[in-house]
Amino acid sequence: MEVSGESCGVFGAFDFEGKEVFPCVYWGLVSQNHRGHHSYGFAELREGDFAAHRSLGLLPPVRHPVVRRLFRSFRGKVGIGHVRYATSGRSTRYWLLRDMQPFVAGREEKVVLAFNGNLVNVKELRAELKARGLPRSSSDIELLSRKLLQGLKGSDLVSAVEGCMKGIEGAFSVVGITQRGELFAFRDPLGIKPLCYGCSPNNQTFAVSSESVGLDINEFRYEAEVQPGELLIWSEEGARRERIVKGERRAFCSFEFAYFARPDSLLCNGKSVYKVREEFGRNLAREDPELERRVDVIVSIPSTGDDAAYGMHEVTGIPWERAVRRHRYVVDRAFISSSEEREKIISKKLNVTENLRGKRIAVVEDSIVRGDTSRRVIRKLRMAGAKEIHMYFTFPRILSPCFYGIDMATFGELIGSTHGEEEIARLIGADSVHYQSLEGFVRATGMRRDELCLGCLTGEYPTPLAQRIADEMRERFESGEVERGRVYEVE
Ligand code: SF4
Repeated sequence: MEVSGESCGVFGAFDFEGKEVFPCVYWGLVSQNHRGHHSYGFAELREGDFAAHRSLGLLPPVRHPVVRRLFRSFRGKVGIGHVRYATSGRSTRYWLLRDMQPFVAGREEKVVLAFNGNLVNVKELRAELKARGLPRSSSDIELLSRKLLQGLKGSDLVSAVEGCMKGIEGAFSVVGITQRGELFAFRDPLGIKPLCYGCSPNNQTFAVSSESVGLDINEFRYEAEVQPGELLIWSEEGARRERIVKGERRAFCSFEFAYFARPDSLLCNGKSVYKVREEFGRNLAREDPELERRVDVIVSIPSTGDDAAYGMHEVTGIPWERAVRRHRYVVDRAFISSSEEREKIISKKLNVTENLRGKRIAVVEDSIVRGDTSRRVIRKLRMAGAKEIHMYFTFPRILSPCFYGIDMATFGELIGSTHGEEEIARLIGADSVHYQSLEGFVRATGMRRDELCLGCLTGEYPTPLAQRIADEMRERFESGEVERGRVYEVE
């Protein structure tokens, strides 16, 4: 698959016995490096002020001199960390450096934050910020932290977070530390991005993580997800939960199930991602009565297609051949890269064995966004001798942009917004293209339709400004106007 966007990973920890939490934050982020490789960072409270380390690229391995130094210098009992893939803000090296997180905001009263998501009412928030001085970064995190800080003046954390939840439209799963040494975490009222928490076997260290794999790697117990509109605080006084906004619905990003989350993660109060993906594969098989006659072998694009391929194999009995393998140390995710980088990464990342010579194959892949990745994969499969290539996508057809943190900003870049299955097959060089139905997809997640964000699949967004922007963009696109990227951020 081939997306790009700000699907970041966050992690925070608090130890009630006063022991250092850095090792736990480090490993929590290592397990979530798939959520962002543009930059990483850590922050903690040190002698009344915030200390932070941020850098570009993937998190280095534990024996790397930088990490060894961090293990020696980060000794606090409360800490947060972040891995970033940029969708908001600019992506030149200069701005990537400026936009790294965690982000320290404020002068006298300070707060440090890290977040996963994307804000929609950016123009309004940026205008507010400009009235008080120039922004330091191009990322949404500055807007969010300034809003929080503004609320903290003369008030408490609960009211400040309430101000964010009511004054900001968009997706935000946040971890942060106050100068009083509290660890806090909150999630937008629709709970668009994942966030869960858990604790150590001795019940002394609490951790909050984008995905449950961040808890698993530390051998922490999964407790629950942070509810949409909920704030959690850990401090010397203990742990506290506040449901600040109780919305009428939730709108969890459905793309997490198909692509972003690790297969061994639990989402939405304990739903196993790989079980859901297996069901996607069973659905694809059930929805195509011709499948068994059409193909000799099932092939998956690793790793997000693997579980679905297993499900398809279970239903049909067609052999599942692991003919496409990843080069283990080419780690960049194709979707979260620029288009030029993407082409190079796909070529280097996937290797196809010769076992496909003369065979008709069903290729199970998570999604198709722009089509360049699929085209490249198909070319490799043809070179390996595949006779017929039938593409099966677990994520239904993407028709509309995303405004909540996945890098699909315009209608024009989405192959599914302007082309049907037959045309797409021709454009990418496949013999046929099949999507899982929307109904099948929703059923497999075990969620109700109104509990998921399906904006990019249906053009119906869970927040009003995103809907308005999408409608205006569609109108302009259909009238032939050239799209300008992330219009809602352009001033
Ligand atoms: S629009 Fe699509 S990618 Fe964006 S949050 Fe909604 S489901 Fe996820």
